[in-house]
This record gives sequence, C-alpha cells and structure tokens, in this order.
Amino acid sequence: MGKVIRCRDVGFDCEGVIKAETEKEALTLAADHAKTVHGVKEITPEIVQKIKSVMRDEPVATH
Ligand SMILES: [Zn+2]
Repeated sequence: MGKVIRCRDVGFDCEGVIKAETEKEALTLAADHAKTVHGVKEITPEIVQKIKSVMRDEPVATH
C-alpha cells in the first residue's frame, strides 16, 4: 500500500495527484508540489494537517 494525495482535496484547483510509499515521503512531495506549482511560500502546520487529513491509503505501483 502507498499514500495518495489529491491536490484538489487539499483545496487547490488542480488535477495533481501525489503518490508515495510512505507518509513522510508523501508529505515531502506534497509540500514540494505546493511550493513549486502553487507558489506556497511556507508549509505551515495547518497545511500539513490538511494534507494528512486528505491522504489515503491506496495500492501504488512505484516500481
Ligand atoms: Zn496541485
């Protein structure tokens, strides 16, 4: 199982989907996506909480 975050669920008007093998990696990728794609300057604890709340366990083929 992996972790999947749909950017739209976090609150952005975006079709981006972040997939990772661990929660830590998913958070890192999501924070990077928010910064580079959406211009979020600082990933606040509130944003981290929001990301965690929409994170789902799904089968992810990463290999
Ligand atoms: Zn996005």
